[in-house]
Amino acid sequence: MATTIMLDAGHGGYDNGATYMGRREKDDTLALTMALGDILKNAGFNVLYTRETDVYQTPLRKAQIANESGADFFISLHRNAASYPNQYDGVQTLIFNPGGVKQEMAENINDELEDIGFKEIDVSIRPDLAVLRRTQMPALLVEAGFIDSDKDNAIFDNQFQQVAQAIADGIIETIGTEETMTDSVVPNNVQPENQPNQGNSMNNRWPGETMRSPINNNPMPGNAMGNPMNNNPMPGETMRNPMNNNPMPGNTMGNPMNHSQMPGGIMGNFGVLIVGFSSMEEAQQLIRDMEMSGHQAVIVKQ
Ligand SMILES: [Zn+2]
Repeated sequence: MATTIMLDAGHGGYDNGATYMGRREKDDTLALTMALGDILKNAGFNVLYTRETDVYQTPLRKAQIANESGADFFISLHRNAASYPNQYDGVQTLIFNPGGVKQEMAENINDELEDIGFKEIDVSIRPDLAVLRRTQMPALLVEAGFIDSDKDNAIFDNQFQQVAQAIADGIIETIGTEETMTDSVVPNNVQPENQPNQGNSMNNRWPGETMRSPINNNPMPGNAMGNPMNNNPMPGETMRNPMNNNPMPGNTMGNPMNHSQMPGGIMGNFGVLIVGFSSMEEAQQLIRDMEMSGHQAVIVKQ
């Protein structure tokens, strides 16, 4: 079966992303995504897109689209921006945590982009980004140069097809093409990200690791189970499975990931109390994210 790669053109709709002299990140990311998709399809991959038009999606929605598709890899394309024009230039690829096929792929993509003229900044660990934290498959976010760097834009525009090809080459070097995959690819399901009972669809928690808050990814104090928003048991619930955060048999809540009833459950959908946010802006974004996924959400100021 062909490996499925979900490509995400960063931003979209009213979210322009970064802008520079009339140039909008959302347009650059969509153009690059479509070019990369064509190359990967020609190499035999099954390619899916979070968006193919200029539409807005929350970062959480982008992750959900990937999860619902069952894609093997998630690649989000962005352009970087600095505090002032031409402050920085170069490429950077972001991953949730170190290790695994995603780190190898990130390094290969950076190397390929360096070969066509970009400065290579680094592979950066970013546990705070929803598209990396909420995706259930190895996920990368490629910052294909700075949109406010004239040097990077010259490469992006004058060598556009090479930029797309470099990213494709980094992917193919890491996992092989469909023809070579049987002996060169590391099957996705043995990667740490996807091993049963390792990591977690909500926040990629590791066994033995302190529970993390999906809001800010900080370890929760001494708590081994709880609801996905704050790690506390839900009303009427006895406990949650510490390995996957699903309600245990006999409780009354639905599955927070898909609203389906859990064994012994009496309801599907449920409300979410938003706590632990660091700004009202963040809380409002969380509310939009939750509502987009069919939940009711309220903010409680602590
Ligand atoms: Zn961006």
